[in-house]
Amino acid sequence: MERLIYLDNAATTKTAPEVVEAMLPYFTEHFGNPSSVYGFAAANKEVITRQREIIADTLGAKSNEIYFTAGGSESDNWALIATAEAYASKGKHLITSKIEHHAILHTCEYLEKKGFEVTYLDVDENGIVDLEQLKSAIREDTILISIMYANNEIGTIQPIREIGAIAHEHGILFHTDAVQAFGQVPINVDEDQIDMLSASGHKLNGPKGIGFLYIRKGVKIRSFIHGGAQERRRRAGTENVPGIVGFGKAVERAVSTMEARTKKERELRDYLIERIEKEIPYCRLNGDRTKRLPNNVNFSFRFIEGESLLIMLDMKGICASSGSACTSGSLDPSHVLLAIGLPHEIAHGSLRMTLSEETTKEDLDYVVENLKEIVSNLRSMSPLYEDFVKKQK
Ligand SMILES: *Cc1c(COP(=O)(O)O)cnc(C)c1O
Repeated sequence: MERLIYLDNAATTKTAPEVVEAMLPYFTEHFGNPSSVYGFAAANKEVITRQREIIADTLGAKSNEIYFTAGGSESDNWALIATAEAYASKGKHLITSKIEHHAILHTCEYLEKKGFEVTYLDVDENGIVDLEQLKSAIREDTILISIMYANNEIGTIQPIREIGAIAHEHGILFHTDAVQAFGQVPINVDEDQIDMLSASGHKLNGPKGIGFLYIRKGVKIRSFIHGGAQERRRRAGTENVPGIVGFGKAVERAVSTMEARTKKERELRDYLIERIEKEIPYCRLNGDRTKRLPNNVNFSFRFIEGESLLIMLDMKGICASSGSACTSGSLDPSHVLLAIGLPHEIAHGSLRMTLSEETTKEDLDYVVENLKEIVSNLRSMSPLYEDFVKKQK
């Protein structure tokens, strides 16, 4: 059989078999609309409440602070747009970072067109937000700070607790896009002083098309999808019962396995990093070495086009990414890699590999052997590399 090594778990993950199994009865037997009066369907209300409790427990939140959405992008859009609208009379300034997911950045651009002002914080060479710059960006009219928990491209984890404390010292709401971090690092919304948090099912072995927004009690936020009275009148639409059940199961699973799973992933991640740094010349690890998601590896290889690298890896059955899935197809280098200060030509030669619990050391050995050969072949075809080698002599 052809070998398939899936190292693109930041783009999406395999739905766990027990998640699928938990979901199936909600397509077939228990298909009722939770808003219906008869017991057969109304029982699904309890089922949803139970999932809300499971999720809330893992965050130290209350179950009525969890609002189901159709995924991370919707949660991000909702948090930003509805907060901006609800607090516009207090101020029209928001703070975010230059390395957010496009679900945040493009929503900020939309808000700028609607008359809001947004400050985009720089990050250092490892992708970490500068807390002093954050403090000095705060104004009288700042209503929201939105900084991602962990970055989807380079895996850098932000000093979330410090950011939450700064926001609250100034009476400003704090939202975090935790789509990559949730299920990978322990999160507590009180200790981290988080007012709103976005998460998504398909990034932690749950189904696609389901997410949630945590909204702290007392935050004035408008509904985003208008219609029925679902989700405490804040998010209309017949509940995605199978999705919610699958999400609950995935969260339960991710949290109960977190310690052992991430320990193993961290070891394999560091093994892969070490081998690449030792065996492939002219490469650079992107992102912070320690404040990093357990499963993220991101390298730039000089004199290489990331796209060519991906195609050659694909021919060997290796699935990886050269940036964010949403940006491939465009020729612009990743905004994240530019924000950490990489020149365009180096940002173009980047490769992201994101591991899963199923990744083995043998997989990674196979990847390194192929990567070495591919990088060397691609470089041998590069006139820039030829010039470079001549100059070295
Ligand atoms: C995947 C991702 C999203 C979008 O989530 P969807 O559920 O795919 O809409 C948002 N933010 C980050 C950091 C992500 O990795």
